[in-house]
Amino acid sequence: MPNLEWDLEVDVLVAGAGGAGLAAAILAHDAGASVAITEKLPRPGGNTAISTGSVPGAGTRFQRAAGIEDDGARFERDLLALSGSHDADHLVHALAHRSAELVEWLVDDAGIRLDIITDYRHVGHSVPRLHAPSSRKGEDLTNDLLAAVSRRDIPLALSSPVVSLLQDENRIVVGAVTRSADGAELRIGFKKLILCVNGFGQASDLVRRHCPEIAEAMYVGARGSEGEAIRWGEELGARMGNMKSYQAYAAILHPHGELLSWTTIEKGGILVNEQGDRFGDEAIGYSGFAASVKAQKGPVTAIFDQAIYEIAAREPWFKEILDYGAVKPAGSVRELAVALEVDERRLGAAFETYNRAASGEIADPFGRTEFGVAPLKPTFWHARVVPALLSTQGGLMTDAEGRVLDRSGERIPNLFAAGGAVAGISGREGGIGYSSGSGLLHALGLGWIAARTATREIFSESR
Ligand SMILES: Cc1cc2nc3c(=O)[nH]c(=O)nc-3n(C[C@H](O)[C@H](O)[C@H](O)COP(=O)(O)OP(=O)(O)OC[C@H]3O[C@@H](n4cnc5c(N)ncnc54)[C@H](O)[C@@H]3O)c2cc1C
Repeated sequence: MPNLEWDLEVDVLVAGAGGAGLAAAILAHDAGASVAITEKLPRPGGNTAISTGSVPGAGTRFQRAAGIEDDGARFERDLLALSGSHDADHLVHALAHRSAELVEWLVDDAGIRLDIITDYRHVGHSVPRLHAPSSRKGEDLTNDLLAAVSRRDIPLALSSPVVSLLQDENRIVVGAVTRSADGAELRIGFKKLILCVNGFGQASDLVRRHCPEIAEAMYVGARGSEGEAIRWGEELGARMGNMKSYQAYAAILHPHGELLSWTTIEKGGILVNEQGDRFGDEAIGYSGFAASVKAQKGPVTAIFDQAIYEIAAREPWFKEILDYGAVKPAGSVRELAVALEVDERRLGAAFETYNRAASGEIADPFGRTEFGVAPLKPTFWHARVVPALLSTQGGLMTDAEGRVLDRSGERIPNLFAAGGAVAGISGREGGIGYSSGSGLLHALGLGWIAARTATREIFSESR
């Protein structure tokens, strides 16, 4: 008989204090449940805190005020156009159609400060629909979520990873064990558990197994993402989905480790290899293009011009990377060739072909059709970049209400999940299906939906 004596009992236990966990805890509390959050690391926030904090919402009042027409059906079409059909099409539908309600709930009920971004659309969106803190920093989004948790007096235990799940004699999940840094264990009983522990980017064995294409690239996501949801899910017989899918980034500044804003490429910038040649359609996006950057043998350089620089400089964090000296100017193609140590004629030919394509004179040899404000004119700006894995996009299968499913498609009682722990909405494999904002939409959106389902079940069961 399992030992089911508890040190603490709550209605809803939330494992993980990133975007999914904090949103879930706030909703569950506001729906009347007793809630506790337990976080592995000494600091909350996970990937959410190091993201750029962009949350898509289709049909929000903020879009309407900016004159942007949008709705859930259009958003769903956009997402599926990039990702193709995959294991979690039902989550695409649910999240796209509820995204406006989510963004307005975040602002109105949770007190999160978000602005509609109209300067750029970013990958996968046919209209501007990303909403972000004015700093464009996930840290500010996280701080606002934490403030909402604190205003509600929701207990949040740091440095307290969930180390195991406990089942009763009927194999129903009813409790979890957390272990603090000094080895002290706490047994927490719950009515519902919401797993918000993100994916497995930090677990190199799981990345090699499921996403070998990106396994050798640097991982720049949060270090708490060690894949516990997958390991527990396997033990509990959970169904997994979209396991080969990931979110990557094609342009991490080297050696600084910061993201070069993709606005620089979306607005017309290019990437060249150590011969000074372009090697693909950069406009497929920062995630999809990462595999092409990884396939280059030598250094890769991102290049954009003064007009693009001025657009990107409207983003606060772009100014910060300028301070590192990671992005340098060159007054001509010759100067650029000298700085990159490439053949001037070859680089010049790459520029000429690209600029003619951007002017509509010829078709781009790599099929690029969106050129922003290109053709590129001096002054040029250049930065050495490398690809990186940001987050894995495969995980537990849930239904559209956030309930974890077993291998036969039945729900696993009491178990909910959201965010990077769950099969994502970015396609079945690779990095190409990732639309900007899909990670946070999944985390905040499914966290909010799962908490609503969990609390509804608690109150209907206790009737
Ligand atoms: C550099 C970067 C930029 C990005 N920019 C964007 C963006 O602008 N928009 C977007 O939509 N997405 C973006 N993403 C992706 C996005 O950040 C993630 O998809 C999203 O934050 C996942 O949220 P989450 O709550 O599932 O995980 P997280 O935010 O990582 O939270 C999970 C938490 O669980 C904790 N945890 C792990 N294991 C345990 C355990 N056993 N017990 C208790 N706690 C545990 C972790 O320490 C962590 O705090 C970006 C990612 C990166 C790396």
